[in-house]
Amino acid sequence: MAEKKVAKSADEWRRELSSEQFEVLRGKGTERPFTGKYDHFGGEGTFLCAGCGAELFSSKAKFDFGSGWPSFWEPARDDSVTEKRDSSHGMERTEALCSRCDGHLGHIFPDGPDPTGLRYCINSVSLEFAEGKKAD
Ligand code: FE
Repeated sequence: MAEKKVAKSADEWRRELSSEQFEVLRGKGTERPFTGKYDHFGGEGTFLCAGCGAELFSSKAKFDFGSGWPSFWEPARDDSVTEKRDSSHGMERTEALCSRCDGHLGHIFPDGPDPTGLRYCINSVSLEFAEGKKAD
């Protein structure tokens, strides 16, 4: 079931988010690789959207790709993450957005492991970790 959308003005987001979160989630920025708090992180639980708290990824789907950003092979639910074509920066990529608040999370690449073959390459700054919280 689709969750209720969260829509806020840029000013509201700017007040609620850190400058780093605002730059990535609302400005489609990218944190520098190997700097994010969840790049090398092995906690068991659920990764939530740092903007709206929606459940985005289970730690069970996290793997180390060596890219410098946390990587997941599937979202917590089929409708957790919205995909959008992104032709910026001279590349054809698939952008990953939080389905609830449209916050920018990162990109999806077709070079992930089984069973999906996908790699959700996500900025740590777009995530908050909830220990032990079960994604369902
Ligand atoms: Fe969100």
